[in-house]
Amino acid sequence: MSTHTPTTLHAPSATTPEAVKPSNFLRQIIESDLANGTYATRRWAGSPGNAAHQAKGELDPAKIRTRFPPEPNGYLHIGHAKSICLNFGLARDYSGVCHLRFDDTNPEKEDTEYVNSIIDAVKWLGFDWSQPGNSLPYQASDYFDFMYRAAEYLIEAGHAYVDEQTPEQMRVNRGDFGKPGIDSPYRSRTPTDNLARFRQMRDGLYEDGAMVLRAKIDMASPNINMRDPAIYRIRRATHHNTGDKWCIYPMYTFAHPIEDALEQITHSICTLEFEDQRPFYDWLMQKLSETVTLPDGRVIGGLLASPPPKQYEFARLNLTYVITSKRKLAQLVYDHKVNGWDDPRMPTIVGLRRRGYTPESLQLFAERIGVTKSDSWIDYATLEGCLRETLERSAHRGFAVLNPVKLVLTNWDEVMGVGHLEPCTLPALPHAPHGASAGASPHSASAGASPHGASAGEASNGVESPARHFSIGKEVWIEREDYEDVPPKGYKRLFPGNKVRLKGGYVIECTGATRDANGNISEVLATVVPDTKSGTPGSETVKVKAAISWVGVADGVNAEVRLYDRLFLDANPDAGGKDFLETLNPNSLKVITAFVEPSLANALPGQNFQFERHGYFVADRIDHVQGSKPVFNLAVGLRDGWGK
Ligand code: ATP
Ligand code: MG
Repeated sequence: MSTHTPTTLHAPSATTPEAVKPSNFLRQIIESDLANGTYATRRWAGSPGNAAHQAKGELDPAKIRTRFPPEPNGYLHIGHAKSICLNFGLARDYSGVCHLRFDDTNPEKEDTEYVNSIIDAVKWLGFDWSQPGNSLPYQASDYFDFMYRAAEYLIEAGHAYVDEQTPEQMRVNRGDFGKPGIDSPYRSRTPTDNLARFRQMRDGLYEDGAMVLRAKIDMASPNINMRDPAIYRIRRATHHNTGDKWCIYPMYTFAHPIEDALEQITHSICTLEFEDQRPFYDWLMQKLSETVTLPDGRVIGGLLASPPPKQYEFARLNLTYVITSKRKLAQLVYDHKVNGWDDPRMPTIVGLRRRGYTPESLQLFAERIGVTKSDSWIDYATLEGCLRETLERSAHRGFAVLNPVKLVLTNWDEVMGVGHLEPCTLPALPHAPHGASAGASPHSASAGASPHGASAGEASNGVESPARHFSIGKEVWIEREDYEDVPPKGYKRLFPGNKVRLKGGYVIECTGATRDANGNISEVLATVVPDTKSGTPGSETVKVKAAISWVGVADGVNAEVRLYDRLFLDANPDAGGKDFLETLNPNSLKVITAFVEPSLANALPGQNFQFERHGYFVADRIDHVQGSKPVFNLAVGLRDGWGK
């Protein structure tokens, strides 16, 4: 498999998936909050809502609340998988709840196709957001009414104003790192004026972009995000949930903290690029929780329950040879560089799934890479290693010959009987205890049989291995590379005069090969050594140095095998202003016809296998038809290539 599998990549050494979870800064924060009772007085009324609503509830039975808040504007990718595993994993580990929330405050880009794919992806990864009385995901657009009221409150309390500067004037007057901003001429309008103006914005009296509502904070702040950020804009667009009800929409930085607060989130975990937004997050939470007394004596405010949620940032996942920008992934799809969002070369969750990745492998990956506060690149080999590690015990073994040449046992008819087919069997899970039905014992010649070298001690929970059944006759398919006229040094497989075992079958002795007019080998010739069938008494008396995989000509099945390689040749395909399309690997997919053992024809779509010596393959979820059209995708090669 070395021609198709990256040889330079090596996975870290195996550890058991059950290993104790390493601590990280987020776990430490949560543990300290739990110890200090930071959120012990929070109430939960069974649904998101403002302070008055939550006050009616019981003490929150969820010790913490986290959330995964995707924007439904594309398919989720491996980076999102990290975030899902992190947020749902923390909630699970600390007796909390994780909310799935569609952050659908941007009317233009969202689509229900994406909503459904996100729901599927989270469920498939093994997580559940349902809690007593609620099984639906939340959607931020359900909070538009509250957000509007919160904006009016900020205006009344003197914390927000309508700005009619042009976008260009606003940009210039915001200043930069070295230069403080300049107050807008509209900044000193009275709350009454601003409120009237804002209501006119809502009522559609102004053109898109004519004005915005801005928080009134500090135009000289060293943090540019605190220089009166825009919080509402005019945008006439039909929203997938609220239709044409609104022509003004909240900005993300305003909407997101409010969504968290209404849902009583305790730990709002996001990626590092939001670090500079945290002061505004805290500012907004404080303003919307406190009460103020107006000059006319009215007391307003207290909109949000206390204590408010807090934002924490972690480094986003960067994976070598992979792009994790929804926009760029979309470009690969729309430019037909790949065959759709679920192309097995795509780092989308649907793509990884079709490639053969399992929920366990992605959970293990998320755990292994951990969370940090500084950006770094994770080697793609780490992801592959997690897949191997989780499949090693669970994936059924099978024989597949990917580059076949026919081997003829010239004495078969004479020794075994004309046309005789001898039934053979091997365990599907060699490390599990074999039932008597498997009828096979591990033989001494293990060279290349299982490059993992995992011991029987690793057996999977006492589950007995199912048996694979196939038969051997006069002709079998073997890999072309398993024969040499003149063996290179150390070569242990077929060459004239050498004996090997057909794994699970007989010992054979090679006698040579026939060639076609072009000098290519057409058949390899050998004789079968009687009384050496695997698992029969005395079969071990003939010693051999190699056992090779094979598929019977009589019962082997033709299968389409899709050999995938990395999609990009460059380890950082979109770093440093590179055009990622320039680094596409022209050989990222090679389709071949192989022979597979008969049991594989009955694979279930999506079932994982280890094709012995080649790697892990999965029956394609879409194109594989059980019993009639086997199609397998290469998920990942074995750790070491096929040895000598
Ligand atoms: P993209 O840049 O690909 O569009 P996004 O961050 O805009 O991604 P969202 O739908 O907003 O996508 O993301 C939902 C959640 O997933 C956010 O909390 C975000 O922080 C997290 N997330 C997105 N990409 C990554 C990544 N590469 N690593 C870790 N978390 C990520
Ligand atoms: Mg986003």
